[in-house]
Amino acid sequence: MARIIGGIGTSHTPTIGFALDAGKQDDPAWAPIFSAYAPLKAWLDEKKPDVAFLIYNDHVTSFFFDHYSTFALGIGASFEVADEGGGARSLPAIDGHPALARHIAERLVADEFDMSLFQRRPLDHGCFSPLSLLCEHKQGWPVSLIPLAVGVLQNPVPSARRCWKLGQALRRAIESYPEDLSVAIIATGGLSHQVHGRRAGFNDPQWDRQFMDLIVDDPETIAAMSQAELAMRGGWESSEVVMWLVMRGALAARPEVLSRNYYLPSMTGIATLLLDNRAGIASLKPASTLDPTTLQLPDSQPFTLDVSVANFDLNRFLQQMTKPPHRAAFLADEEAALAASGLDAGDQDLIRRRDWTGLIERGAIFFGLEKLAAVLGLPNAIVYAGMRGETLAQFQASRNAPGALYSVGSSLKSDDPAT
Ligand code: FE
Repeated sequence: MARIIGGIGTSHTPTIGFALDAGKQDDPAWAPIFSAYAPLKAWLDEKKPDVAFLIYNDHVTSFFFDHYSTFALGIGASFEVADEGGGARSLPAIDGHPALARHIAERLVADEFDMSLFQRRPLDHGCFSPLSLLCEHKQGWPVSLIPLAVGVLQNPVPSARRCWKLGQALRRAIESYPEDLSVAIIATGGLSHQVHGRRAGFNDPQWDRQFMDLIVDDPETIAAMSQAELAMRGGWESSEVVMWLVMRGALAARPEVLSRNYYLPSMTGIATLLLDNRAGIASLKPASTLDPTTLQLPDSQPFTLDVSVANFDLNRFLQQMTKPPHRAAFLADEEAALAASGLDAGDQDLIRRRDWTGLIERGAIFFGLEKLAAVLGLPNAIVYAGMRGETLAQFQASRNAPGALYSVGSSLKSDDPAT
């Protein structure tokens, strides 16, 4: 069974990563940052968790307002460091943990937390600024990462109570994972700060200290606070502290404080908190769920997260048929487009042969196939017929309106090459 060994609360200001990259260890203005992270790093070195579940927010780097999610769980096999405008920091990519992430996603949905899911999106300073001081990473990261991006930039943002309850559901999810894994929960987010308007530069260190007391001893009091109250006390951007409640909600009622620090060099208090989850806590009962991989429907293949992660490139190639230059290149010279696709020979061959069944069995989603069919001027029914091993005429004869053909494209050839 997977177990949560402890929790870390940390600011995620770019200051932290900058201090490391600029080699400021011996500079009096910056040295307190390094001493604050030393006990947390030592604890991680000693405990060697298999997975870090890290709660952070993106800063309009990888997520934008064309589609903004409240809770987005990273299910990918690897995560790169984002370029935030001046070039990416030279940190290695970090491995994800798709198997545990998939389990957590399934359990959270069963527990009424319907998550958005992401992969192949780089992570910005919200994640890597503190992580680069928490772990030695020159030879690669010593831990796998499951990131949870929380949408705290655009209102409405999730309430403190919602985050608190998500933490409790996260604990049920992790503790119901059958494999013996150790997991550290890392919450990030600045305490009091405001970075916009005439109030920019606002801090309240007294409230920050009170917050750090409450998050350990009385998190329900913070969970009961509205976003307005949090913003009034700590500044508008400090309402991102709701992310600490996800971590706290995943821990035991009385965790042990192993380290606590607060240093305010400029705009944001650099706060660090290390909580040991204490051994022997009673497990919570997991919500019941239906594992789609154990659902035996004949001639069916559920599109699960492991299928999605393993076949991202294939599905991306098909999804890109929505882009005129991509489909024009495909139609102009299919062999060249396939050769340039980066897909392996097997995937290329399935596309070349319009092997709809093979593509589904491989892990393509049907909605990519209907895009390819549309580009080829073929009706959806050609795909259905192909998957059933039938001619178009045979398939259409099984419909109530055999003459009705349609496509998601605007130009449709109705000829059936198989008849
Ligand atoms: Fe932030």
